[in-house]
Amino acid sequence: MNNPFRVTFYSGIGEVTGANFLLEAGALRILVDCGLAQGEKMAADENRQPFAYDVASIDYLFITHAHLDHVGRIPKLVKDGFKGVIYSTLETRELAKLILADALGLLTKEAAREGLEPLYNQEDVNHVFPMWQTIPYHVETPVSATGSGATNSGLSVFLRDAGHILGSSMFRFTYKDPAGPADAPSKNIVFTGDLGNSPTPLLRDTEPVTGAQYLVMESVYGDRNHEPKDQRRKKLEDIINETAKRGGTVLIPSFSLERTQVILYELEKLVEGKLIPSMPVFVDSPLAIAVTDIYRKSENLFNDKIQAEIRGGETLFNFPKLEFTVTADMSRDIDHAKAPKIILAGSGMSTGGRMLHHEVMYLSDPKNTIIFVGYQGVGTLGRTIADGAKHLTIAAVPINIQAQIETILGYSAHKDSDHLVEFVATARESLKRVFVVMGEPKASTFLAQRLRDELGVKALYPERGVGYEL
Ligand SMILES: [Zn+2]
Repeated sequence: MNNPFRVTFYSGIGEVTGANFLLEAGALRILVDCGLAQGEKMAADENRQPFAYDVASIDYLFITHAHLDHVGRIPKLVKDGFKGVIYSTLETRELAKLILADALGLLTKEAAREGLEPLYNQEDVNHVFPMWQTIPYHVETPVSATGSGATNSGLSVFLRDAGHILGSSMFRFTYKDPAGPADAPSKNIVFTGDLGNSPTPLLRDTEPVTGAQYLVMESVYGDRNHEPKDQRRKKLEDIINETAKRGGTVLIPSFSLERTQVILYELEKLVEGKLIPSMPVFVDSPLAIAVTDIYRKSENLFNDKIQAEIRGGETLFNFPKLEFTVTADMSRDIDHAKAPKIILAGSGMSTGGRMLHHEVMYLSDPKNTIIFVGYQGVGTLGRTIADGAKHLTIAAVPINIQAQIETILGYSAHKDSDHLVEFVATARESLKRVFVVMGEPKASTFLAQRLRDELGVKALYPERGVGYEL
């Protein structure tokens, strides 16, 4: 019996969130991502279940990127006995510190409301980062054998840019059984994490996965295409101008990580080009402000166009009347600022955060506009508003929604269906099988069907908890 090379999907199948996959390569047991499952609640009840594998037996945890649905259960994993090493890019680790600190506050509040123990506490979060090491992009890095007497594990990892958020990476694991014949071919598997909607305003494009044999890929938009990207900035401009003419306020619920920075960059271009009137723009989220600071320090990871702008003297995330409101007092003062004005705040799906206060303040007035610029999960307040609900209770206040409701899907941080197919086509020659995960069931199954029909590759929607031999 050869040493195993096997993948098992524990969560993040039939759902967009909660990514958690196990790769067994010989004696090594490796997890890829350990995310929080999220829906109507910040943390769905399934997060409270024990992990379905022996946590203490896991040697390594590799993290594709710092979104909560990829990192949110790491403190629980550590609390439950994980003793191995965590690996990611440097930027993913730095962003994860902010994301987990923020999540801890929200999870603690949510648990208190429900009369439950929090999923984890500050001490559990503190234990995570001393275990977390970083690896660079584009260096084939051997994964060390663990345990007594072991030398060569036969496994190495190579990181490519996924173009999704700052520091996001795809992992290619290459395995050659060290006990097997010397001339036996090696095998590889690529985990995409989330795939960026390239070209994006700030980041580099998703790199191709030429040579991949097995592919584990996301499918959030597996069954839908976004509107063309060349219209997104114009649409944003038009909506802001129409609202400004009415003397209204524009609300943009926005994920703190990546989306806020992208929208800020777009607003900067609109302001500098005098395409919208001069008006206050508030970034009303301590987390988004801290993330923006990390973006400012990571200019080397931006695309060539941005790097050229920076060399030409451009300062990113900086334009007249832009205000970063850190404290609660500063946040409350936004209400006193005269309209027109623009408010960016979290959470991106209106499941908490300062956006709720602004929704209560502004959504009952037809002069105002709310613009959705990202995926709205099933059951979230954001989804309910985007779908056109008129009578709602937000933060215990009944609201009769009169504001204009707009959606710009071109700013999605995920590839759409056509671009996912195009991405897989880069590896068509070498692909043995594609596992389509991280999507609602109809999105994943639709994409798997497209990959089979249009590319002739073996694509499947895997079963939870079943080991697939590679
Ligand atoms: Zn993501």
